[in-house]
Amino acid sequence: MKAAIHPAYEEVKVICACGSTFKTRSTHKGDIRVEICSSCHPFFTGRQKLVDTEGRVDRFQKKMAKSKDLKDKKELKDKKQPVAAR
Ligand SMILES: [Zn+2]
Repeated sequence: MKAAIHPAYEEVKVICACGSTFKTRSTHKGDIRVEICSSCHPFFTGRQKLVDTEGRVDRFQKKMAKSKDLKDKKELKDKKQPVAAR
């Protein structure tokens, strides 16, 4: 290797959102944070699951449930109105 032209290729820690960590080597400085790794990806676990990073899917489902509630209430209100008024 030619001296002084290569970036530092050192051991770094990879931290996944599922909590698992492993070490690799990279020119990247500091730890690498990933959302999914081989110990939590459905392909490797063989389990069907939602890849829910930071509860985004959960938040979306809550939002959808809330908007459905509002819609149901609106429909109820509409039904109370006399048919002749339509
Ligand atoms: Zn993981």
